[in-house]
Amino acid sequence: MSVTQETADLLKEKLKETFGFSQFRGEQEDIIKNTLSGENTFVIMPTGAGKSLCYQMPAIAMEGTAIVISPLIALMKNQVDQMNAFGINAQFLNSSLNRAEMTKVKNAVIKGEVKLLYIAPESLTKEDNLTFLKQANISFVAIDEAHCISEWGHDFRPEYRRIRNIVESMDKALPIIALTATATPKVQQDIQKNLNLDDARLFKSSFNRKNLYYEIRAKRDDIDKQIIKYIKVNHGKAGIIYCLSRKKVEEIANLLNVNGIKALPYHAGLDSDVRMANQEAFLNEETEVMVATIAFGMGIDKPDVRFVIHYDAPKSLEGYYQETGRAGRDGLEGTCIMFYAKEDINKLDKFNKDKTVVERDTARMLLHEMVHYANLGTCRRRQLLNYFGEHMDKDCGFCDNCNKPTPKYKVEEAVVLALQTVELTGESFDAQHIADILMGYKSQFVGSNDHQKIATFGKAKSYFKLNSDDDEDDDDDEDDEVEFSDEEDEDGNPIPKAKAKKTPKSKSRKNAEPEPIEQCVSM
Ligand code: ADP
Ligand code: ZN
Repeated sequence: MSVTQETADLLKEKLKETFGFSQFRGEQEDIIKNTLSGENTFVIMPTGAGKSLCYQMPAIAMEGTAIVISPLIALMKNQVDQMNAFGINAQFLNSSLNRAEMTKVKNAVIKGEVKLLYIAPESLTKEDNLTFLKQANISFVAIDEAHCISEWGHDFRPEYRRIRNIVESMDKALPIIALTATATPKVQQDIQKNLNLDDARLFKSSFNRKNLYYEIRAKRDDIDKQIIKYIKVNHGKAGIIYCLSRKKVEEIANLLNVNGIKALPYHAGLDSDVRMANQEAFLNEETEVMVATIAFGMGIDKPDVRFVIHYDAPKSLEGYYQETGRAGRDGLEGTCIMFYAKEDINKLDKFNKDKTVVERDTARMLLHEMVHYANLGTCRRRQLLNYFGEHMDKDCGFCDNCNKPTPKYKVEEAVVLALQTVELTGESFDAQHIADILMGYKSQFVGSNDHQKIATFGKAKSYFKLNSDDDEDDDDDEDDEVEFSDEEDEDGNPIPKAKAKKTPKSKSRKNAEPEPIEQCVSM
């Protein structure tokens, strides 16, 4: 089917009539036309670019029901509610429905009443659902969050690998549209290979968020003070602070409130009505700051978030990009500050130890990219975009390194120090060990060899502005519940993928009530 001018006009009309938008954004129109003409489509666009419309519009315009495969129950519900509010019959099939509700949905689909059917990959693979789908008149299949298919993505879901076979078993040559906001070349290849999308037309838009300012700060003891100061200086602006653990979220939300800043916590350990209420309060501007684990953010569309602070480093650059991407969705300036310490990376790596070798290697590679980015002395945006397979000809002029280039130092000095250390340690230790000594990092091996006593210990510290001074903090948060995943359980609650083992607390200051940070209040 080719798309006529008449169809194009009709699409514009529907866009206005259904969604109230006067024009398509970016390549939306071409993408929609591609699906309408029966072709396969692969869409790579950053978060917030408007991917949903790329399958919602053809679903409305075509006969039959479009299947939308989506990994998150909460997101599905969100979209279904939204579509129904627009007067479009959308339904979902997932484990949150009981048998009677499922039958009702299926009957409506078979009768041809439903334009969009959202379905979880787990439900898709169930035998009775397959039989049902074969009876239905399906217009096309959309695969949202398609990076879930790749082990190289940040959110691998094995069930996604079965999608292609199932779609083919529906015995029609259904057009497929795969969509993702993860654009690393590896993930892209994996998606194309697994979904057999070599013939698909690729629509890839730039990942450059020109209005976002990227900054990395060394994580030191005064981190809380720095954050409070930042928020006070930017009074009245909405922001998100991401922490790794639920406990830290609570602690920081508390601390901010004690310091006169309206802040609410959000993490998977809170009841769903509390989460909902806190989210509403943030959307309605009743609170300035949301302190959250990564359970917060997916599918949340608040255009005027002015800053995103990472209290802890994320476990991948994809995660970092997604989370920082929630700032400045309205196109106005957004500031992204990440506090970085090497110890946090060690901590993150500890959670990899129970993984399979392949999973561990992948996780470590993702972490390594994160470390590289954080330690960078050159343009952050260039590096970030390079990671997503995009090339920038010149520095951005709008990141911390562009604004304040890292001072250069004489490399000979460092080399001499390194060689001295190799000699002083009897030429029998590896590079990491030598680096630990030079950076003054008392690792287990450094300690057991008494190498903190040698003359070059800590001598290279001053070369690296991003080295944390607080070595003792290494295991601080081991008793926290850490949230790593956007996945959800049957009830739509995010599942913490890894939980730190419970260890007795060794430091009483952890239990102390937060106190106002006086120095900052007078800002
Ligand atoms: P993504 O899935 O790429 O993260 P969404 O589909 O959630 O992005 O869209 C982000 C926001 O942009 C939504 O609020 C959506 O309504 C809005 N949007 C999408 N397309 C258009 C358009 N053509 N005109 C105006 N707003 C749009
Ligand atoms: Zn730059």
